Amino acid sequence: MFKLELLWALQNIDGEIVKYKRIQKNKETLIKLNDLKSQYGKLKESLQNDMVYKKDIVSQSEAFNLKLKTLDKRVKGDSEKLYNEASSIKVIENLQNEIEINKKEIDKIENQLLGIIEKDEKVTSEIKDKKENLIKLKKEFEELKEEYNKIIESGKEILERLEGKRAELLNEIDKGLLARYDEITAKKGSAISKVEKETCSQCGVKLNAILYDKLKKNDDINLCDHCGRILYI
Ligand SMILES: [Zn+2]
Repeated sequence: MFKLELLWALQNIDGEIVKYKRIQKNKETLIKLNDLKSQYGKLKESLQNDMVYKKDIVSQSEAFNLKLKTLDKRVKGDSEKLYNEASSIKVIENLQNEIEINKKEIDKIENQLLGIIEKDEKVTSEIKDKKENLIKLKKEFEELKEEYNKIIESGKEILERLEGKRAELLNEIDKGLLARYDEITAKKGSAISKVEKETCSQCGVKLNAILYDKLKKNDDINLCDHCGRILYI
């Protein structure tokens, strides 16, 4: 290979290496993975809170039902007494009074129970939604993680191959020329510019006829008058 061809090949490999290193870092995917993880954690915590709340509601409802049963029994007992045993007005009045108070209490508890049932329905449906979302989030996380690992793995192989090719090329390139290549690359991001239609493709400036002729005839190092890159034709 001619020396300019070698440098051009080196620049292409260097470009590929930069590209694959960027893919390896894959910042966006990492951010997304962390985001999914934190969403999952928050949702799980919220689900646990809901479960505790539901447990509390269930035990409240059990306590109210127990109270209702006791009050019902009392009303029933008092009604039987009123019907069978009441002997004086005072006893009748007392029993009626007692029945009235207990019935009011029953109404109150029944209303409270309705409220509890509503709360229970609401939290039960929230728990269901959250469980479904947790499964979705977990799946999304695992799929993305797998994809990420694949990219990293294949990127590693490609990078190793590119580094190998680069090392081979470096053996063939003159050290002084390589130093120049590195120096211009450090300054401008790229050292070699392909000439297309008599124009430097990197800066877009047209070459003068003498320089263009020189380039066509030999493999010497010629720099673009305008951007200072090594011209390759
Ligand atoms: Zn140029």
